[in-house]
Amino acid sequence: MPTYACTKDELKPPSEGSLAKWENGKLVVPDNPIVVFIEGDGIGPEIMASARKVLDAAVEKAYGGKRRIVWWEMLAGEKAQQECGVLLPEATLEAIKMTRLGLKGPLTTPVGSGFRSLNVAIRMALDLYSNIRPVKWYGQPAPHKYADKVNFVVFRENTEDVYAGIEWPKDSEEAKKIIEFLKKEFGINLPLDSGIGIKPISEFKTKRHMRRAMEWAIRHGYNRVTIMHKGNIMKYTEGAFRQWAYEVALQEFRDYVVTEDELWSQYNGQIPEGKILVNDRIADNMLQQIITRPWDYQIIVTPNLNGDYISDEANALVGGIGMAAGMNLGDGIAVGEPVHGTAPKYAGKNVINPTAEILSGVLLVADFMGWSEVRPLVENAIRKAIENKIVTYDLARHMPGVEPVKTTEYTDALVDFIKNA
Ligand code: NAD
Repeated sequence: MPTYACTKDELKPPSEGSLAKWENGKLVVPDNPIVVFIEGDGIGPEIMASARKVLDAAVEKAYGGKRRIVWWEMLAGEKAQQECGVLLPEATLEAIKMTRLGLKGPLTTPVGSGFRSLNVAIRMALDLYSNIRPVKWYGQPAPHKYADKVNFVVFRENTEDVYAGIEWPKDSEEAKKIIEFLKKEFGINLPLDSGIGIKPISEFKTKRHMRRAMEWAIRHGYNRVTIMHKGNIMKYTEGAFRQWAYEVALQEFRDYVVTEDELWSQYNGQIPEGKILVNDRIADNMLQQIITRPWDYQIIVTPNLNGDYISDEANALVGGIGMAAGMNLGDGIAVGEPVHGTAPKYAGKNVINPTAEILSGVLLVADFMGWSEVRPLVENAIRKAIENKIVTYDLARHMPGVEPVKTTEYTDALVDFIKNA
């Protein structure tokens, strides 16, 4: 039985690995980086086992033993409760801070635990302020006729907006005080039985988020960045988000940027080589644009709540949650994490789709760590598995006559495709 670190003092990084470093705003990754993994609850252990196996195979194939990931298990959720007596041990947060690299499975938040959400607690504690959700089609059955044209990345701000958790129930002392204050100070009359929520959106947090999105576009060769907001109505939160995001684009990335006006006045509607079109769309329009004209969008930068809505809609276009990857990004630190939850009714049955967890790992390893050869190897293996109808139940049920395979069989098929690539 392995022993797990619960407190900071018990932390002992694996001796065969080295730590990634953050030097002058750049991540420096050794050939044997230590990556923290958290299995998570429910289906977590199954999808994490699959993700590690596929990532290890892809790294081995790409670098022939010159590079390898040294995995370091840390606990959160039910396993942490059993081993450490708490849901989120300090050792876990400390280990991710130390290594800068993490991959996690989904976590349940037991009702009444004192945590609003464990996932949110981890993001907040590590200041993982941008949530990245790529949406892409790999040949899976999809409800949308333009699914093959969908290839965008939702950049969702992670730490503020109505998600910051500043709210009080109807009749609470706090709600009453605020209603009273608004009446007295500003002459605003709210119904006395109102629940109150506060929506903060700050310049600093918007700007750092937009910076990451612009850097992502430049680094990964995207030529469109769209700011999604509801600034026509919420002028000083969502409208300010729009303004601050444009300021970052125009003041800090001017050499790369073409605005929508410039596109038509100077470039006849064609984005010039090496430039990025930065534009904005009002949220409700954006939600329909990704259905009617998905090819016009690549990176969508948005505050928290809009980001929640659009990433689920976008994933539905290409066929569902089992394929939906994500990563939380801060300053020189990242934690990959699928969009879906713990799917408790499928736990331990060896049936669920591990692709979302695998692709979350690809975001970390290929896109954040910069081991970019890993991405095409894994993506091609996923495409081949789907082409050959080697799919788990969630995809098989939309493919007439196709029998689903087990999670482990699908994983082995991906590993074989990678080895033989
Ligand atoms: P869920 O995503 O766990 O499951 C909803 C349904 O989606 C499942 O019943 C299943 O049909 C399908 N599904 C999800 N993942 C799948 C996969 N990999 N392969 C195939 N099908 C899959 O959402 P839920 O049931 O609302 O939440 C369950 C628990 O997960 C809750 O405790 C919730 O708080 C937690 N949760 C955690 C995270 C996270 O850790 N980031 C995210 C969402 C929900």
